[in-house]
Amino acid sequence: MPIAVGILGANGELNKDSLSENLLVGELALDGRIRTVRGALPIAISAQKKGFKRLFLPAENAPEAAVVAGLDVYPVGSLREVIDLVNADRLPPPLKVDIDELFNSACHHMVDFHEVRGQMHAKRALEIASAGGHNILMIGPPGSGKTMLARRLPSILPPISFEEALESTKIHSVSGYTDGRGLLTVRPFRSPHHTISDAGLIGGGAIPRPGEVSLAHNGVLFLDELPEFERNVLEVLRQPLEDQKVTISRAAMSLTFPAGLMLVAAMNPCSCGFYGDPSRDCRCTPAQIQRYISKVSGPLLDRIDIHINVPAVKVSELSAQATGESSTEIRARVQYARKPSRYGLPEITSTAMLRCRRE
Ligand SMILES: [Zn+2]
Repeated sequence: MPIAVGILGANGELNKDSLSENLLVGELALDGRIRTVRGALPIAISAQKKGFKRLFLPAENAPEAAVVAGLDVYPVGSLREVIDLVNADRLPPPLKVDIDELFNSACHHMVDFHEVRGQMHAKRALEIASAGGHNILMIGPPGSGKTMLARRLPSILPPISFEEALESTKIHSVSGYTDGRGLLTVRPFRSPHHTISDAGLIGGGAIPRPGEVSLAHNGVLFLDELPEFERNVLEVLRQPLEDQKVTISRAAMSLTFPAGLMLVAAMNPCSCGFYGDPSRDCRCTPAQIQRYISKVSGPLLDRIDIHINVPAVKVSELSAQATGESSTEIRARVQYARKPSRYGLPEITSTAMLRCRRE
């Protein structure tokens, strides 16, 4: 699209004076439509810093770019629209995104802890893990609710701040995973399948792209069936867990992506899943159990501070009427625990909390 506009400008078909203050981004399709691009938010931030007044870009990418203050963003759907805007004597009002509204609408998580019956000690462990920014491993038989519990974890973490939302949206933006609303206003929850490659997990490619650890930045990375992951995949996880960032080196460049995440892992206690279960018999031999557990290396387990057993829920608990606490109630306690003023410390963000744990 910028090349097409450049040719039109050189042919004298555009008002060239207004072009110098505009940044144009977009892929031109053969039928004249403008296709979406990756990385609209970082592009907008860079455009604003470089002194551009206006940014013309594909309509689908416009909401995330419009988050940047001091830059007028114009969504364009076709080359015709670009020409009309460039030649216009008076521009229409730019796209506006109501950031407060985005954050307010994000307060309501889709899932809630009160939907989980029983598992009181597992909920308590997740609350403690959230308060301290600890990685956690849940060990229990299939069907005990490990995945259900993990999915609800972002709903008890402190709400994402504007700075964190910008950071996370930038990563999702360059990966092409934006939802078209503008900012990512809830903490990300990523749960890659155990067949993922090491490049998929920590990032890679000829032009390095962020992996799952970076997409989970400021949020939760959930690895279900931990021993099923390839050993080399789990090994590459150690460095980002330690450093809260990941560096990918290629001949042409070396890129560093943030990876300040909370790791939640789940596994069965043995290959049949019922070791230690009072109601079902485990069919595994001690050697089989040992082999199963040893699939996860000691150095990785050392980086997971809390290990808990999540046994099967009793039928009486499943059919009980009473429901547990809501995510909002638990989150209030997590936020209170994180209040640095209680310890006479200056205000810190939740990512900084995660970082200081290691230091
Ligand atoms: Zn077993």
